[in-house]
Amino acid sequence: MILNAFNLEGKVAIVTGSNTGLGQAIALGLAQAGCNIVGVNRSAPEKTIDLMNDGNHIFLDIRADLLKQDGIPKIIEKALAEFGKIDILVNNAGIIRREDAIEFSEQNWDDVMSVNSKTAFFMSQAVAKQFITQGTGGKIINIASMLSFQGGIRVPSYTASKSALMGITRAMANEWAKYNINVNAIAPGYMATNNTAALRDDEKRNTAILERIPANRWGKPEDIAGPCVFLASDAANYINGYTVAVDGGWLAR
Ligand code: NAP
Repeated sequence: MILNAFNLEGKVAIVTGSNTGLGQAIALGLAQAGCNIVGVNRSAPEKTIDLMNDGNHIFLDIRADLLKQDGIPKIIEKALAEFGKIDILVNNAGIIRREDAIEFSEQNWDDVMSVNSKTAFFMSQAVAKQFITQGTGGKIINIASMLSFQGGIRVPSYTASKSALMGITRAMANEWAKYNINVNAIAPGYMATNNTAALRDDEKRNTAILERIPANRWGKPEDIAGPCVFLASDAANYINGYTVAVDGGWLAR
């Protein structure tokens, strides 16, 4: 039965930044598909825990600041202590800093690059080592962006970090496919979350963005959940190093 290939019952998924926004919808979607969730957050993920409160799946609440990479070994250790294995990693946590390129500060460069690309790479490396030790393979899904493909305005470090993320998605896929590790990415279009509140509050930018989206609406966090379940499942076993746009047609324009 083809639908069995999408079933994630009994799988263990780490989702970074799952207290809100896209990460919250991803955690919920993966849980509904059968996963136990390891939520890695710097803020309390109470709302996600509430929403997941179906009694069928565990949400392991791990606190870490992903601006730095030194907490990664502890995250893996705690996930293994609770569940004994890891099957899926979603590198979702991300930040954006808006400033004209001509004035852009080194701090705004370093912070964004660190969370969005460096941490995503070293989380992936740590989890891939575990997949190899387990001998099971596994799935890594990176949350990229339209700015993995385009330049954007006033967000140079975000563009650099998300372009890098799409690049390392391919690089990691190339080296780890032989271990049955699938590394792919999802590039969300313009989604209504905290990350884009400033854009939606700016009437001119909001109108310009909407006019360019063939689907004629901002994306909702739950629009990302289905594609993520797919990429996390056996249905995607022969997809390696690809970035799937979930953008209401933005890139097709
Ligand atoms: P969001 O609501 O701002 O969520 C970002 C998540 O990352 C939050 O859980 C946040 O935690 C977490 N995070 C940030 N810095 C962290 C740190 N140092 N340590 C631990 N967690 C940290 O934005 P979102 O839209 O859901 O974004 C999720 C991902 O999608 C990001 O990678 C973003 O770049 C990407 N994305 C978003 C859009 C969009 O239109 N919204 C489009 C393309 C890509 P706190 O709540 O504690 O800050």
